[in-house]
Amino acid sequence: MRALILGGTREARDLAKLLVDRGDDVISSLAGRVKNPALPVGEVRIGGFGGPEGLTAWIKEHSIDVLIDATHPFAEKISLSAATACKATGTPLIHLHRPAWTKQPGEQWIEVPTMDDAAREAATFSTILLTIGRQKLASFAPYDSTQFIIRCVDEPEVALPPKHTIILSRGPFTVDGEKELLSTNGVEALVTKNSGGALTHAKLEAARELGIPVIIVQRPPLPEGGTLVHSAAEAVAALS
Ligand code: NAP
Repeated sequence: MRALILGGTREARDLAKLLVDRGDDVISSLAGRVKNPALPVGEVRIGGFGGPEGLTAWIKEHSIDVLIDATHPFAEKISLSAATACKATGTPLIHLHRPAWTKQPGEQWIEVPTMDDAAREAATFSTILLTIGRQKLASFAPYDSTQFIIRCVDEPEVALPPKHTIILSRGPFTVDGEKELLSTNGVEALVTKNSGGALTHAKLEAARELGIPVIIVQRPPLPEGGTLVHSAAEAVAALS
């Protein structure tokens, strides 16, 4: 079987290994955003396809039997491209998205549908920790009375709020480390996407222990078509 995995996540790397180990022909695709990406085993291609039409042509040209969209749950454009291209080519599609976080006892969640809504909520606090990556930071740019501590992997390249500090750092993070970050900076609330997964979960535990609210952006809806699974093992089962 010849599989295309749209990746950029831990789950995508786990799946590439499982499929390569069982002898499948696997090509993993990365967007090319991160400077030093963690690479999956097997063949890797890097860069956009040129929208749904480009991906459609690529699938045909490379005789792909199945496409697994294992991108981040908030990577909306590429998931839509995958759904459109699979429909156009009749290629089976699996969405592999890690389970979302669910609110635990003692956690104070302020759930919002979009990043703009998160920014409006955040602006009601004096000091905010932003752990949302760097692409949607411009939503916070209009708000000039809140101090934003921005933690991301690479330097942001979009408009930023006037009062900000940048911390360049890549997880995993510990609960103690997160508590220290929140306390020493006087953080009143943090903003995160509901990414799910263990690697970045420590901030939610730290916030709960310190009694700090979390402004949490809900996942966007999946495009129509395809089968949704929540782990690499489930994806392999679905392929079998
Ligand atoms: P996006 O907004 O859905 O995609 C923007 C464009 O980037 C797509 O239209 C596509 O270009 C290209 N692209 C995205 N993922 C690709 C992939 N795996 N292979 C080839 N091209 C890809 O995506 P994003 O939110 O920028 O995320 C980019 C990558 O970072 C994804 O691989 C995702 O898994 C990873 N990531 C995202 C987040 C997040 O919070 N969004 C967090 C961690 C990791 P064309 O239209 O030209 O094909």
